[in-house]
Amino acid sequence: MLAAFPDVARYYPSTSEAWEWQLDGHCRGVDSEVFFHPDGERGRARIERAHLAKRICHSCPVLDRCREYALAVGEPFGVWGGMTEEERRTFLENSRTSRSRTEYRTPHSGYRTSWGRVPLA
Ligand code: SF4
Repeated sequence: MLAAFPDVARYYPSTSEAWEWQLDGHCRGVDSEVFFHPDGERGRARIERAHLAKRICHSCPVLDRCREYALAVGEPFGVWGGMTEEERRTFLENSRTSRSRTEYRTPHSGYRTSWGRVPLA
């Protein structure tokens, strides 16, 4: 997973400063069940819960950084940076299979691919 983002250690040193962006997240104080599906959740309930989480992310001031973090470390569960776990997995798989066409940019600038910028939620 990290091989796709070889500079991750540079962006995420092991200091508290590296994590302070989380203090600005709009999800702070929101029930974590909005962002992480309960066991066995499927279908319409899952879609609606994820949609609610993504709406919260959409106006979050640290969305880009959150998304970058989740992609870089391969967060396996939950909505991070306006992307569900399935969307992150698909994005990373597409990045791996078409890496030569993919450009990875610095923190806060988001992701640009040959097919355009990764859309917000
Ligand atoms: S982008 Fe979403 S998950 Fe990330 S900090 Fe903001 S509200 Fe929380």
